[in-house]
Amino acid sequence: MKNYLLTPGPTPVPPEALDAMARPIIHHRTPQFQAILKEVEEGLQSVFQTKGKVLILTSSGTGAMEGAVSSLLSPGDKAICVSGGKFGERWGELCAAYGIEFIPIDVEWGKAVDPEKIKEILQADGIRNMDNGRRIKAVYVTLCETSTGVATDIKAIAEITKNHEAVLVVDAISALGAVPLRTDEWGIDVVVSGSQKGLMIPPGLAFISLSDKALKLADSSKLPKYYFDFKAYKKSIDKNDTPYTPAVNLIIGLNEALKIIKKDGIDNVIKRHQKHAAAVRAAMKALGLELLAPDAYSDAVTAVKSPEGVDSAKLVKTMRDTHGVAMAGGQAQLKGKIFRIATMGYITADDLKKGMETLETVLAELGYKFEKGAGVKALEKGLAS
Ligand SMILES: *Cc1c(COP(=O)(O)O)cnc(C)c1O
Repeated sequence: MKNYLLTPGPTPVPPEALDAMARPIIHHRTPQFQAILKEVEEGLQSVFQTKGKVLILTSSGTGAMEGAVSSLLSPGDKAICVSGGKFGERWGELCAAYGIEFIPIDVEWGKAVDPEKIKEILQADGIRNMDNGRRIKAVYVTLCETSTGVATDIKAIAEITKNHEAVLVVDAISALGAVPLRTDEWGIDVVVSGSQKGLMIPPGLAFISLSDKALKLADSSKLPKYYFDFKAYKKSIDKNDTPYTPAVNLIIGLNEALKIIKKDGIDNVIKRHQKHAAAVRAAMKALGLELLAPDAYSDAVTAVKSPEGVDSAKLVKTMRDTHGVAMAGGQAQLKGKIFRIATMGYITADDLKKGMETLETVLAELGYKFEKGAGVKALEKGLAS
């Protein structure tokens, strides 16, 4: 049975990258590897849309999130953590782990944050802390909240943080390469990402870009840290090197994936994601299904409400175990209530067609009534447009 991955990470890996990763390993302190690292760095800068250096860490995406707390802040600093799902919650958990007091902005799951809320808190911070200066040093947000399929208006938030001492830190782990993200142009200080979503590589690499404002904050940061000390990664990458042994083969695979993105052009890659996600949304509508986030959807992953009487956990399990098609279910409070179809990275139109056929088959088996074939037809129409 062939397995289809329509999950929001890990995502399928293109054959060029698989081939490259299967080649004999090379040593990392060699001109041969440094030449690859240089190409990878340039490719990352163009996907992140930044002139600044992108740090490459050997960890899953959460390692870079942890570093974005421990490597930037100092004891006594405060932060704002926006949370509207499982991954937004992680920012608060990370701050708590490092003893950083944070002001939570909790958004209903399935909705996007109103940037004005962030503005109000940042403005009040300046008034309250007249004698000892502003204390909010970072605003942590999620571009695509993978657990709900919501996209946040990062551009509007960056307009606000630009005029404040706090840095804007964006979790773009599932968003990078899938939805528009203009790091330098919008004025985003820190962008965090990972390898196993839009970048089309197996799990194991994390990335982080830092603005000058963020680099200054990192320079004065006093929280305890070692492996995720951004200063060490910055110093190394400036010399086209890494501080510790990197995941050599993943970086070699990433080079191939970045070449594919470069060949297509990042704007066309984003357009393909828009088309695929729009086709999925049209298919859901044709099946009479409702989206969890109809007003703030992301083109990286679509969250769909399971119809009345259908347990989405069972739907997802049957699709995966009986038909070899993996989609994601709901997490935490959404468990059993939604299923999620990813459209990120190397998930192709054919993968989506197979996914839709299987979804229809299993929905029918579970007793849901709909016009057979309507989802596949709407999907195909969307993909052909
Ligand atoms: C996948 C994901 C993460 C977690 O990344 P790991 O690689 O599992 O550590 C964090 N945030 C978002 C938005 C994600 O989609």
